[in-house]
Amino acid sequence: MSDPFDTPKRGLDMLRDPHLNKGTAFTREEREKFGLMGLLPDIVSTPEQQEARIEGHLTSLPTDLDRYVYFSDLQERNESLFYRILMKDPVRWMPVVYTPTVGLACQTFGRIYRRPKGLYISVRHRGRIADVLRNWPEADPRFICVTDGERILGLGDLGAQGMGIPIGKLALYTAVAGVPPQMTLPIVLDVGTNNEELLVDPFYIGIRERRLSGADYDSFVDEFVTAVRTVYPKCFIQWEDFANHNAAPLLERYRNVVPSFNDDIQGTAATGVAGILAALRFKKERLEDQRVLFFGAGSAGIGIADLLCTVMVRHGLSVDEARSRIRLVDSKGLVQTQRTDLTPSKEQYAFDDVPADTLFESVRSVRPTILIGTSTIPKSFTKDVIEEMARISERPIIFPYSNPTSKSECSAEEAYEWTGGRAIFASGSPFPPHTMNGRTFTPGQGNNVYIFPAMGLAVLAANPSSVPDEAFVVAANALAELVTDENFLSGLIYPPMASIRNSAMHVATAVATWFHEAGLARSERPADIAAAVRAMSWTPHY
Ligand code: NAD
Repeated sequence: MSDPFDTPKRGLDMLRDPHLNKGTAFTREEREKFGLMGLLPDIVSTPEQQEARIEGHLTSLPTDLDRYVYFSDLQERNESLFYRILMKDPVRWMPVVYTPTVGLACQTFGRIYRRPKGLYISVRHRGRIADVLRNWPEADPRFICVTDGERILGLGDLGAQGMGIPIGKLALYTAVAGVPPQMTLPIVLDVGTNNEELLVDPFYIGIRERRLSGADYDSFVDEFVTAVRTVYPKCFIQWEDFANHNAAPLLERYRNVVPSFNDDIQGTAATGVAGILAALRFKKERLEDQRVLFFGAGSAGIGIADLLCTVMVRHGLSVDEARSRIRLVDSKGLVQTQRTDLTPSKEQYAFDDVPADTLFESVRSVRPTILIGTSTIPKSFTKDVIEEMARISERPIIFPYSNPTSKSECSAEEAYEWTGGRAIFASGSPFPPHTMNGRTFTPGQGNNVYIFPAMGLAVLAANPSSVPDEAFVVAANALAELVTDENFLSGLIYPPMASIRNSAMHVATAVATWFHEAGLARSERPADIAAAVRAMSWTPHY
């Protein structure tokens, strides 16, 4: 990578460039060389002193939203310092920079808005999207994360204020896997919003119109993809937080047109499958012998269901046999053959079970060994549901995946208490450790951050022509194999978050290797893929 300080920039221009600014850590020689004398106070700080100053500030702030705003300013001021702090303690700071705090940040985005950190491509730009893309100041972006803001976490339609998600997500690509920050480009497609509150909110930042839909919407997205291919032909696209009715169709329409994936579908799927594979390894049980019930049959639920089927087919089952191990519950109850309102993606999981309207009745009918919540309905895993799970299985697997914390189907404490400590638990948003009967359980977080940054680094390393579902099976297996006996005994079915960077290197290496073996890689195969992946990974520099 070229030296960022090999630049004509000097003086204030350098201090105002977040890629270059070191603040008071510029040495006296650098101050001479770059015309910074007098523009900084006399002190020359060490990076550690700068970190301590920022950490002190962050700690003194009253709420996580205040810390989010402070982090956001820091990212615009001194990128290396921002990433050093984030990487130093990801367990503490990722929940501030991304979920769950980013949910509140998006809801209040119009009030906390500072400087643009990405591109707002609105319906007003129709016909000129390529020109808008050319306004981005970086020469060689490789990773676009794009949303239209219609399904932000479990919070619904936040319109253009969904921009917080691509910004946060791409920051994690860098913090976790070292995808170079200059290569990342957050984008919101501002196609309006149907959120009545935002439409009348004087601080709303987006276009004050109802959402574009149908053929108009499709042609707008089509212009966007075509423009990306024209302006940034090496760019990879990650679709993010699109509503269910657009998420899967967009993925299918473009997956062979441009290297792309949908993290809500495939990243979630790989994370969920990795957790299940790790749990079953310790239970010494086979996936094919499980009954899996999904509460919530949207992008995330069906994404995990489909990838579980892919794994079972690899284990020798037919597609129909694999599907028969899975059941879905949506807002109308258990998905069954007699229903006439099913989409094709739900229909493939429709069976003739004992009819059930509620989740409890569905659990009674299906007798699942694994229960996964992707419904956005808080507290829906009630005491009777969880107690029933504990009657069905000695070690029930219970994953309330809905985000943010306020939407979680149950808390870790509830799952442990109501199963007498027998639940194998992982949630979407983090929960604190829980102690019962002298034993402390550390709840795992089935956070997609285990997968998508590593997938990004693998894509950077191998430059594949497409990113098929198989790549996510490889990622899930690589992640699951990192979970140790010690992790499992403490309650974890994912590697500890504190070692997330090492996990990402391992997963990225496995996936990059698979891209080469599958003949999809467009870059030359290095002799040592692990070393090449590590060498590509950016670290904050001074
Ligand atoms: P989605 O809108 O596509 O799906 C939500 C589903 O919930 C829909 O099928 C809907 O019918 C169903 N639902 C709504 N009300 C219901 C009810 N009363 N009973 C049963 N089902 C009901 O959203 P999604 O992308 O699938 O995301 C769902 C949730 O999962 C979100 O909270 C999201 O943040 C979370 N999620 C978590 C992770 C993770 O932790 N790794 C990853 C992705 C998504």
